[in-house]
Amino acid sequence: AIYGGQRKNARGINLNVEHDLTPLMTTLGHWADARWEAGPLIDGQRRPDGERKAVCSPQDLDRLVGHVVWSGKDDVEQALAAAHRGFTDWSEKPADERADCLERFADLLEANFAELMAICCREAGKNLQDSIDEVREAIDFCRYYAIQGRARFGVPMALPGPTGESNELYLEGRGVFLCISPWNFPLAIFTGQIMAALVAGNTVVAKPAEQTSLVAHRAVELMLEAGFPPGVIQLLPGDGEAIGGQLTPDPRIAGIAFTGSTQVAHSLNRALAQREGAIVPLIAETGGQNAMIVDSSALPEQVVRDVIQSAFASAGQRCSALRVLYLQKDVADRIEELLAGAMQELSVGDPALASTDVGPLIDGEALTNLKAHLDELDATSRLIARAPLPMVSQPAHFLAPVAYGIDSMKQLTQEHFGPVLHVIRYAADDLDAVIREINEAGYGLTLGIHSRSESTAAYIEKKVKVGNTYINRNQIGAVVGVQPFGGRGLSGTGPKAGGPHYLLRFATERSRTINT
Ligand code: GLU
Repeated sequence: AIYGGQRKNARGINLNVEHDLTPLMTTLGHWADARWEAGPLIDGQRRPDGERKAVCSPQDLDRLVGHVVWSGKDDVEQALAAAHRGFTDWSEKPADERADCLERFADLLEANFAELMAICCREAGKNLQDSIDEVREAIDFCRYYAIQGRARFGVPMALPGPTGESNELYLEGRGVFLCISPWNFPLAIFTGQIMAALVAGNTVVAKPAEQTSLVAHRAVELMLEAGFPPGVIQLLPGDGEAIGGQLTPDPRIAGIAFTGSTQVAHSLNRALAQREGAIVPLIAETGGQNAMIVDSSALPEQVVRDVIQSAFASAGQRCSALRVLYLQKDVADRIEELLAGAMQELSVGDPALASTDVGPLIDGEALTNLKAHLDELDATSRLIARAPLPMVSQPAHFLAPVAYGIDSMKQLTQEHFGPVLHVIRYAADDLDAVIREINEAGYGLTLGIHSRSESTAAYIEKKVKVGNTYINRNQIGAVVGVQPFGGRGLSGTGPKAGGPHYLLRFATERSRTINT
């Protein structure tokens, strides 16, 4: 049961089937002009209103989605105090009761599927497929961690001992977990971190990404509705540096779960290392410089389909996304030609339309940074293809997917978080140099391999040090309980989200010996 048992992943919606699509579009239509409000939620209560900031869609900056009130210093203190107070009761509840809350929350996510999709689409610019996947993944995290929580936290593990002695090992929550989540999976990763921490018996102070407070707020409302006691989950929307800066040094924080950039993970790690008091875990899931290696035995059409998906789905805004495509020289011309053709077919634009493949970037800063990178590539590299950009009249953050030929991964000194693919050609006898170059970059998240030679695929898989390898398919979209997700090195600490060992890092172990 610990590995998933009979669990089923949440049901999807097939956008290619009229029968599924039409009712979905009708329901989503009800949310087209809705507005949502977010702000600090402490002990189950909204705080007295502060300054409301407008939230607009990245695909239409003139279109209001709602308002958010950022948390002030006092909110942060109140939230931490509430989570700290709530810990004893919650951690002493039977694991089954905690898991029941996760399952009820999963049911509420399912019941509010369309509304949550609508917020993901309008606040984060996620297209329909990504919005569906987002809500499904959140549901899957709840149900999966509920199963894991019951199995691991429910019954102590009996251990051997001499006659007259009983020995057991069991797991307990640590205290208040600070969960810091990213905008690119504003519901799924937000939910996954919090549910893991809660089912393990911790209480949570959650800090959602600045860009995606509305969906986080709606999710916490549903958590409270699901029966999580108000003291166990506190929401603090607002400025990451200010909130993190206030919470991280506080000895009441017993652990941090973070998904975001490697740079921020480093600074959290430093802050934790400098503080006095208990030594606590940092669970960090960070970026990648993810490669795919394609040898001459690969099937070109399949390669191109998987490259398009891996590099450009979600506008490349996934930490798993393909950044560097290594093509064996003999097939490079053919694959680049097919790739250029396929990129012309990509439809970039309004994420609320069923026909849209690629939505907007999250914000202006992302667009400016990527444009600066593209300027550099224009000056130094070979343009392979650029997808057509939509003609839009409104201000928006669209960037056309683009592919450039470069010479070496060493030219990439940082992760470029968007729809930009770098292609490098290699000679058959340079495979070891390619492997070395990937490993030397220091990241280790996803790896794609396209080869019909089993021994080549196995060799590459063994040598390239990453967390998730995908052979002859795309390299994004890890499924809970199916592809536990997370990397190593600059890509994170592990354990893998949606995997059987994830909850362990949220817990502390205890043994009990009784002289009977
Ligand atoms: N789990 C996601 C995937 O496999 C990526 C998560 C992230 O971008 O943080 O595509």
